[in-house]
Amino acid sequence: MAATLHYFEAISGRRIKKQVEDRPAWKGSEVDFGLKDRVALITGGARGIGLAEAEALAAEGVTILIADLDFDAALVAAAKITDEQGVVAHAYRCDVIDPVAVDGLFAWARKTAGRLDILVNNAGIAGKWVGAKIEDMSFENWDFMLRTHLHSTFLCSQRAISLMREGGFGRIINTSSMNVVGGGRAGNANYTAAKAGVHGFTRVLAKEVGGDGITCNSLAPGYVETELIAYFTDEARQIITSQNPLGRFCQPAEVAAAVVFLCSDQASFINGAMINLDGGRREFFWG
Ligand code: NAD
Repeated sequence: MAATLHYFEAISGRRIKKQVEDRPAWKGSEVDFGLKDRVALITGGARGIGLAEAEALAAEGVTILIADLDFDAALVAAAKITDEQGVVAHAYRCDVIDPVAVDGLFAWARKTAGRLDILVNNAGIAGKWVGAKIEDMSFENWDFMLRTHLHSTFLCSQRAISLMREGGFGRIINTSSMNVVGGGRAGNANYTAAKAGVHGFTRVLAKEVGGDGITCNSLAPGYVETELIAYFTDEARQIITSQNPLGRFCQPAEVAAAVVFLCSDQASFINGAMINLDGGRREFFWG
């Protein structure tokens, strides 16, 4: 709803009422993010950050499509969202590094939901794939990390664009990392390079599709409490939380809240941005 807004300007001790252009009124605490009946595809949505993103979007009335390598977990997640949140959620088994499988995923998305408004490129790995210094890193580790994070983001985004163009609206959210802004840690060159690539890709995609009503942004989370970092030792956890200004890990729901906002009508002019979710610190010294 458009509203005529006014602001007060102080001139020589007097308050002058000034009229500014018509623009949508801020709706106060009951914010309508304009997401009801939209359709979102979340890769790696079976657990962790992706599941929190699916749940947060479902809470805004979004139909959810979960694509994950772990089909059993994806089915459980979709069933839980459908049962508890009053929206429809579907699950699909897909390895997002495989171009043929990704073609199948988007054919399924079209058939299942008929449209696509939101893509969250979230699927990711760490664990045994990180830890080696560059001179000791196997090509397999390097290659698999780049394919999982960067190639998958390219493959899914490329296929999402045409579907989004049909609807004249799109939001693509890519998952980068605080390692990119913080400079990374010794032993995770493959992860940091992949995530830096994700943000570089985001910046260019934002320029290429912005004119079609599609925005593209990336997230740079710090350490988030999920299975991905379950291998951290108690000592590492203690050091990380003590170095963070907020004194704790990020929670998946806190990343999901940023996704809801970036997908909203309110975020319509945010394009090509990287949103830091690191509690104020991007570099940690441990290990
Ligand atoms: P997680 O391990 O809890 O969940 C990742 C999900 O991705 C799993 O369900 C897994 O099956 C799926 N997946 C992995 N490879 C896949 C593939 N090839 N195809 C389809 N699905 C695949 O991890 P998370 O912590 O929720 O991480 C989600 C994203 O956030 C990742 O991209 C990760 O790099 C990024 N991230 C995580 C943290 C953190 O500290 N947890 C910090 C910054 C960024």
